[in-house]
Amino acid sequence: MKTLLGIQNVTKYYGSGNATCKALDMVSFNVNEGEFVAVMGASGSGKSTLLNMISTIDKVSGGSIILDGNDLTTMKEKELAKFRRDKLGYIFQEYNLLDTLNIRENIGLPLQLQNINYKEADRMVEKMADRFGITEQLDKFPREMSGGQRQRAAAARALIVHPSLILADEPTGALDSANSISLMHTFNMMNKELNASILMVTHDALMGSYATRVLFLKDGKIWNEIYRGDRERKVFYKEIVDAMTVLGGTGDEE
Ligand code: ADP
Ligand code: MG
Repeated sequence: MKTLLGIQNVTKYYGSGNATCKALDMVSFNVNEGEFVAVMGASGSGKSTLLNMISTIDKVSGGSIILDGNDLTTMKEKELAKFRRDKLGYIFQEYNLLDTLNIRENIGLPLQLQNINYKEADRMVEKMADRFGITEQLDKFPREMSGGQRQRAAAARALIVHPSLILADEPTGALDSANSISLMHTFNMMNKELNASILMVTHDALMGSYATRVLFLKDGKIWNEIYRGDRERKVFYKEIVDAMTVLGGTGDEE
């Protein structure tokens, strides 16, 4: 298995002096190509901070982040912009899509930034829409679609340039349970059939059980990790719930 992402001793402080907050504390782990990893932990445990470090939205205080052989923590802003655009796909809780563009234009947006010609881009968009079951919605605007359809469109857009890694922060956070499970099936399809490597933050054990591995964060540190292996998803789910019970607390107890 080839290592796609290498996180080494990543530390992140916010603020200064007495108000300093250590959001990440010497976090180290690898993600291999083809993995679907869920990052779990209580509110405030550092999940979003970790994702923001990898997406280079924010800078680490220490440590290194190697993606596809490049150390993101030493790259210049100009290189980083290109890197983010070509190598990373993002799916957030909400506000993924631009309201003034229809779904066809939204999904095709990353291709425009890569100067792919219009005809070829449209062919790629239609292929993606078919794969994600939103062909009927292509000429609609985001406000005309359900939350579940919007997240499928966001996933299609994230994947259209075949990024090395998909980053998702609470992608089911604004969905009801049926749509959440449906989106996790979409993530499994992306992972298994479209070979997408995914790092997803969630606080929901059920969503985590769709991943191939769950990493637990506690107070900015890696607390534990469990692999699904060949086990049934339901068995994995139970193990995640048990781990969360042991993990306990809210991270506020110190
Ligand atoms: P999670 O996503 O697991 O809920 P976060 O990564 O958002 O946790 O936050 C981790 C810790 O860092 C929390 O204590 C939070 O208050 C703090 N934090 C996060 N972002 C900032 C910021 N921009 N400025 C100051 N503190 C922050
Ligand atoms: Mg968060």
